[in-house]
Amino acid sequence: MFGRGSFNQLGDVIASKRIHPDSYFVFVLDDVFAGKPLEKRLPLQGRDLLLPVNVDDEPKTGYIDNLVEQIRAYSPIKPDGIVGIGGGSTMDIAKAVSLMLNNPGSSADYQGWDLIQNPSVYHVAVPTLAGTGAEISRTAILTGPVKKLGINSDHTLFHQIVLDPELLAGVPTDQWFYTGMDCYIHDVESLQGTFINEFSKAYGEKSLDLCRQVFLEDHPERDDKLMMASYFGGMSIAYSQVGACHALSYGLSYVLGIHHGIGCCIAFDYLDEIYPEGVEEFRRMMDKHRITLPRGLTADLDDQKLDLMVTTALNLVPLWENCLGPDWQKKMTPERCLALYKRM
Ligand code: NAD
Ligand code: ZN
Repeated sequence: MFGRGSFNQLGDVIASKRIHPDSYFVFVLDDVFAGKPLEKRLPLQGRDLLLPVNVDDEPKTGYIDNLVEQIRAYSPIKPDGIVGIGGGSTMDIAKAVSLMLNNPGSSADYQGWDLIQNPSVYHVAVPTLAGTGAEISRTAILTGPVKKLGINSDHTLFHQIVLDPELLAGVPTDQWFYTGMDCYIHDVESLQGTFINEFSKAYGEKSLDLCRQVFLEDHPERDDKLMMASYFGGMSIAYSQVGACHALSYGLSYVLGIHHGIGCCIAFDYLDEIYPEGVEEFRRMMDKHRITLPRGLTADLDDQKLDLMVTTALNLVPLWENCLGPDWQKKMTPERCLALYKRM
C-alpha cells in the first residue's frame, strides 16, 4: 500500500488476518516512538502486544531470541501476525521474529541462504525511514556470535507493506541522508555490477533517477519519491547484488558497530577508483545537505582488528564477484582492502 495517510488503514489491513479468536497481533515498534503520537495511532485491540525495540545497536541474534521468548512467555498461543514499525533495523527484527516463532532453535542457526524450514507468521512492514529496501528484501540482516549475515529465504518477505511518506516527517537530516544514501549506493552497485540484467536495470535506473530528484533537487513530495526509490532499489538488488561499498561497510559494522547507512557513506567516499561517477555525485549530495562524515575511524585499531575487518569484507564473495568480476581476488587483494580501511 502506498500513499500519504495510508498508515490509517493498517487496522483494516490486518483485520482479515485476525483469524483465531484467542490470538493477538504483536506491534514491534522502534522505541524512538515511545510516548510519541505514532504510538497512540497503532490499531491495538484486545490482547494485542506492544513490543518496543531498541535499535541503538543493529539487531543481534541474541536479541531476536530474547524477543521470541518474551512473546512465548506472554501467551502460549502464537500471534496471528507481527507488524514492524521503524527503520531497517526494526523491519529486520519483525521479519526475524515472525520466522523464529515457527522455526525451532536460535536465529543464529538460520543465518545463511534458505535454511528456514517453516513459513513465518504473517508479517507487515511499516517503514519510518526510507532507503534500506528492507521492506521488500528477502533477508533479515543479523549480527550473530560468529558473523553478520542475513536470514535469507522466501519466507522472510513481508506479506504486506504500508508505505506512508508522512511517517518520514521529523527524521533528523543526518539519518535521513545516511539511510537514503544506502538506496543510492544500492542502485550504483547494482547498475555497475557484472550481475546486471534487465530486471535489475529497470528498477535500479528508476530508483537512481528518484534519488537524484530527492538529493540534488528540491521537491515538496521528496519523501514520497524516497519511499519509492527505496522500494525500487530493493527490487533492483533482489535480482543482482551490491558491491565493494557494502562489503567494506560490513567490516566496519562487524568490528566497530557502525550502522549500515553511515558505514556505506564512509566506505563509498573512498571508492573513487571503482565508482568514479557515483562517488562524485554522492559528494555533491553531501555538500548540498551539509553532511560531514567521521574520519580516522581505524587509526587506533590493532592489527588483529584490522585483519578481522578485512576478512569480514573479503568473505562476501558474491558482492566482490558482482563488483569486479570472477577474477576479483586478483583485483581486491587483502593488502588493497587493508589500505582502503586504513584511509578511513
Ligand atoms: P535504523 O533502523 O537502524 O534506525 C536508525 C536510527 O533512526 C535509530 O536510532 C532509529 O530509532 C531512528 N529512527 C527510525 N525511524 C525514525 C523516524 N521516523 N524519526 C526519527 N528517528 C527514526 O536505520 P536504517 O538505516 O533504516 O536501517 C539500517 C538497518 O537496516 C541495519 O540494521 C541494516 O543491517 C539493515 N538493512 C537491512 C536490509 C535488508 O534488506 N534487510 C538492507 C539494508 C540494511
Ligand atoms: Zn544497503
